[in-house]
Amino acid sequence: MKGYLPFKLAIILLTLPLPIIAQVNKNAPESIGTKKKRVSTATGRAVVVTANPLASDAALKTLKEGGTAMDAVITAQTVLSVVEPQSSGLGGGAFLLYWDQSTKTLHALDGRETASAQAKENLWTSSDGKVVPWLSATRSLSAIGVPGTTALLWEGHQHFGRLPWEANFQKSIHLAKEGFIPSPRFLRSISLAKKIGINHSQTFKSLYLPQGPLPSGNKAFRNQKLASTLSLIAKGGVNQFYRGKIANTLITDLQRQQNSKNSVQAITNQDLANYKVQKRKPLCRKYRSWRICSFPPPSGGGVAVLQAIGTYELLSKKDSSEKATDHWHLLAESLRFADADRSHWIGDPVDWPVPLKGLLDDNYIKKRADAIKPYKASFRPLPGKPKGSELLDLASQPRTAGGGTTHLVIVDLDGNVASYTGSVESVFGSRRMSGGMILNNQLTDFSFLPSFSGKPIANRVGANKRPMSSMSPVIAFIDDKPVLALGSPGGWLIPHYITNALIRSLDLNLLPKEVVSQKLLSVRPNYTLLEKIDEWSNSTANIEKGLRNLGHKIKYSSFSSGLAIIKLHQGSWHGAADPRREGKAVSLK
Ligand code: GLU
Repeated sequence: MKGYLPFKLAIILLTLPLPIIAQVNKNAPESIGTKKKRVSTATGRAVVVTANPLASDAALKTLKEGGTAMDAVITAQTVLSVVEPQSSGLGGGAFLLYWDQSTKTLHALDGRETASAQAKENLWTSSDGKVVPWLSATRSLSAIGVPGTTALLWEGHQHFGRLPWEANFQKSIHLAKEGFIPSPRFLRSISLAKKIGINHSQTFKSLYLPQGPLPSGNKAFRNQKLASTLSLIAKGGVNQFYRGKIANTLITDLQRQQNSKNSVQAITNQDLANYKVQKRKPLCRKYRSWRICSFPPPSGGGVAVLQAIGTYELLSKKDSSEKATDHWHLLAESLRFADADRSHWIGDPVDWPVPLKGLLDDNYIKKRADAIKPYKASFRPLPGKPKGSELLDLASQPRTAGGGTTHLVIVDLDGNVASYTGSVESVFGSRRMSGGMILNNQLTDFSFLPSFSGKPIANRVGANKRPMSSMSPVIAFIDDKPVLALGSPGGWLIPHYITNALIRSLDLNLLPKEVVSQKLLSVRPNYTLLEKIDEWSNSTANIEKGLRNLGHKIKYSSFSSGLAIIKLHQGSWHGAADPRREGKAVSLK
């Protein structure tokens, strides 16, 4: 068992006092829409898919006005910060994968939230060594990392924007000022936030529950403070956020909320001023005739997608039918083995040299595939020993939770492609606010224990460190031409959803509208999760039986994936939004 202790660790964590919560916990962090909906789909020369119709329409308008995919990302993200604040916003962070058609280059911009320069590895343990319960951690001031979204949008605009920066803020400012009709999911998310606790945040209560009950679903909802914050950034640019008025208000707001009895490791003015977007090298690997690219650490999601699809490729047949038990067995096993690696080896490379090359090396993937038994389910597979890890003696961490995230994909008329995942971590992040913005709780994505049995955990808290993420925006290529872009929210399960979707898009050659409607499979270290939908019982009753015969322990679950996919098919781009959420696909013909 050397170096692999998530089970023991999980037992220890489970024996610690857990919060009494309803509906939201580490395993079910999000509000799930249960009604079956029509798939929103669109086809054309330029396509936008986001999680909210107002954001999609606004981003499309940006493209119509001559904006690039980058301009449209800024429009979409700023609008989402108003209409989908439960999932992403300026008080959060994001990853952007961007294909620049003029230079034929793929870029990876990391706007992940960052821990304070003063953060200590004991952030989530109390003086007696006990781990802080996850739910109280999500509302702690210590959970708020330096937000990276504004810096990422600014950096992206400097390189790839065409419209004036300010122009990309117009729609969001208008919606925040004049109001919008809240969506059902927006309202459900407020209820959820109430259940997990909002008493620590008077600003949240006054904005979202001013009279006590939920805001009306028929009346315009306004956020004047956010309108002012957005206007300041639109006029003053990035410095307003990190060094100007917004930064000062943010730090004053955090200081005001500090209770001297609690030791808080909150971010400072200096931390904000020092924030930098990291330009990363996209992580790419060949899959059959495609080249699939995703996001490198601090995301563990990209590594997991590429490993899982890599082992799946070696073990499966290209035309492997969805009706066959083999397909589901190999998918489950590939995901389980990839998960064992990401919970062990991934952390912010600023702290540890992540053995990235080794983890994606052909021989290593082959070794991992060889360890997968074609006729027997695995039980808590161990992490492998990739090249470059010889000097690292680490312990694994249990999987992290998540909940407040959004994904969007855009292709513009010039052929630039954006695949962007933004997050505030839990539903409405920490529920704390400043300047009308929801503040993230992304630092709960760090391992709560810095080490185990004397061995450090790669994703432990550290000064100026970024917590491991599961967010995995993807762009896939054929002969260096982008042909597919996708991503999803969903916390730890993100790479699972994406691997499901990649196999259907590429091997089965399905269109995005078909892919987002397919049932999903996910895994835990010791069981396999099938999506709880009627279809399984009708058309694929045998799959469950087949998997059980191979030793899979099966559980059913609802999934709150939010896949956004675009695919080039017969000369046109096709886009679709996941019917499990409220997204919309729109296009320019
Ligand atoms: N905070 C999570 C992460 O970065 C994402 C949460 C979610 O997708 O719901 O992995």
